This record gives sequence, structure tokens and C-alpha cells, in this order.
Amino acid sequence: METNHPGYKANELDILRLAVENTTEAFVTIDETHRILFFNKAAEDLFGFKKKEVIGRDLDILLGKTCREGHRQAIERYLNGEKKQLPHHEKEFMITNRGGEAIPVTFSFSVAKFNGRHYFTAIIRDMSDIKICHDRLLKSERLAALGQLVAEIVHEIRNPLVLIGGFTRQLKRTISDDKSSKKIDIILKEVQRLENLLAELKELYLPKDLNISVFDVNELLRELYVLAKADCKNRNIKIQFESDSDEAFIEGDREKIKQVFLNLIKNAVEALENGGMLRIESKRNGAFVEVLVSDDGPGIPEEHLGKVFSPFFTTKKYGTGLGLSISKRIIDQHKGYSISLDTNKRRGTTFKVTIPLAKKASA
Ligand code: ADP
Ligand code: MG
Repeated sequence: METNHPGYKANELDILRLAVENTTEAFVTIDETHRILFFNKAAEDLFGFKKKEVIGRDLDILLGKTCREGHRQAIERYLNGEKKQLPHHEKEFMITNRGGEAIPVTFSFSVAKFNGRHYFTAIIRDMSDIKICHDRLLKSERLAALGQLVAEIVHEIRNPLVLIGGFTRQLKRTISDDKSSKKIDIILKEVQRLENLLAELKELYLPKDLNISVFDVNELLRELYVLAKADCKNRNIKIQFESDSDEAFIEGDREKIKQVFLNLIKNAVEALENGGMLRIESKRNGAFVEVLVSDDGPGIPEEHLGKVFSPFFTTKKYGTGLGLSISKRIIDQHKGYSISLDTNKRRGTTFKVTIPLAKKASA
């Protein structure tokens, strides 16, 4: 709105009109017959209607079906003097914009009497951003509380569990009949499973600070390859390790990065329950080294893709659903690292971890 004509001096009303026009709050003014008289820019943005589409129209155009009648009655009651005041509330409310999108807002109302007629203005504030912030804060508070709870539960369960495991192992030595021995083995297996779950929960909710060093990732992968090879032998899985260079020095927490690769290898092994091929590869790519863990298993269905990195998502009978979420967390904690996956029913699944080469080595 241009008012800077030479010789024209803006008066109070012009200034006010511009201020209202340019504020971030939506202003919608109606007259006594429910017709829209004023609709500022913020109102255009909020409701998705252009000013020229709504001026002169009934306010119903902006209101949801369910509140049209109530609104009209409230105005009438006010005009009949039944109600002295319109609600001045700052209550949170949902409106639906032209596109059908629900938007959280707060309202306040103002009534102006002019030449014996009433004009009602709603001042509406879009709360989406504030709500998102608020939700995030709540979430992080909840997470902190959850972390505390998990720490206490882990602590309470772990001690008796260690006792159960220890005594069961002692008992096992004194038992000679087959049936009892099998039962004892099941107890020991279950105890181990619970211990692993506790360790994963602790890792997820109480991550420790990183212990950064520079190390050769290829050497770590060779170590894991030897470990995995022994495991794959009895499972009809062929395993390969390939690297395109002898060394690839990276900077990170070796133990944690090892855990990431272990999780990926474990998932690959579990995906190959009917046997198959598992490949671990290390490839240099510019200033990065890419570590790929691939299997030619069944792949991940598209509808699961968005969930595999979420805590507790599992398709396995005895899975915890924590492996990938912990891995993602560790990767996110490391600067410049990233993890991605490529999956396909025919080819299987490849997880790729991309890691910056340490300065010394990439030079
Ligand atoms: P868990 O292994 O305990 O189920 P993860 O977080 O490690 O938990 O994995 C979550 C889910 O992602 C698995 O249950 C599985 O459905 C899917 N997934 C992960 N890796 C693979 C893979 N290599 N092939 C097929 N599915 C996989
Ligand atoms: Mg897993």
C-alpha cells in the first residue's frame, strides 16, 4: 500500500491501517449482517483466500460448517444486548483453511461502534510454529525423563539377571539328565537375550560421550570379517570382504563405529536365514570412505522403509528393533558421517556408511 505521495502527510488512521495490513496476525472484520469488510494480508495467508474473493461475502465462507450457526447467534446475542461482551479469550482453536488443512490458532475479538453500527474484528494468530516448538520441547523433556526411567529399570533388572545367569550356570554343572539340561540352556539363552536388550536400551537412552581417535577402518572391518566368518560357516552364508586400499584412516569412536558395523552385519546374517551371500566392502570416494554391508536376502518392503531406523521397529520374533536406531544415533553423533540404504526384492539390501577420511590420510 503506497501512501508516500509528495505533499501527502500520513495521518494516524493511515498509519494504523498500514500497521494492521502488515502485521503477522490475521485481521478479519465483519459488520452486523455477518459480511466481511476487512481482510488483511496475514488473513489471506492464513485462510488461503484473496481479499477480493471474500470482501462483501458472508463470513460463513471462512467458517467450518459446525461453527457457522454458533457464530451468527453469538453476534445476534451481542447485538440484542443479551451479552455485554464478546469473549476476549486467547483460547487455542483449530481453523480449517481453504486447502482443508487444520491450523492451530488463538483468537481475540474487538468490537467497534461507529455511527450506531457495530463492527466485529477477530484477531487471529497462527500458532503452528509455536506449537511445533512446544511439542519439540515436550518431547525432549519426555525423552530425558524416559532416559532416567530406563536407567533405573536397567539397573534394577540387571543385578538379579546376573545372579540368575550365574546360579543357572552353576546348576548346569550338577545336572546330568538331558531334559533338565535343555531347560537350563533355554534359561541361559533367555537371560543372555535380556542382557543384550538391557545393554541396547542403555546405549539408546544413555549414550556416553564419544571417545574419538584416528584409526584404520579397513583394519576394523577385517577384524569384524573374521568374527562374522565363524558365525556364517554354520548358516550356509558365504561371506566376502573387499577393500580398494590397504588403509583408510578415519576419525571417530572406534568402539561405537564397530557396534554400527556389527549391527549391520547381524541384520544381514539374520536376513539370510536360508543362506546366501554377505559382502563387506570398503571403497574410497574422494575425501570419503564408503563402507557397504550387503546381503542378497529378501530386501526391505517399501512400507517398512520409513520405520527401520525407529526404535522398537522389528519384524523378527526375537528382535529388539533397536539395532538400526542405535546405529543411526551413533552415525549422527559423528561429524560428516552418514548412513543410507538401498534395497530391492531381487538384489537384497545394502547399507552404506559414508565416513570422511581423516585429514592426514586423505592428503
Ligand atoms: P532388529 O534387528 O532387532 O529387528 P534393527 O533395528 O536392527 O532391529 O532392524 C529393524 C528392522 O529392519 C528389522 O526387524 C528388519 O525388518 C529390517 N532390516 C534391517 N536390516 C535388514 C536387512 N539387511 N534385510 C532385510 N531387513 C532388514
Ligand atoms: Mg538388528
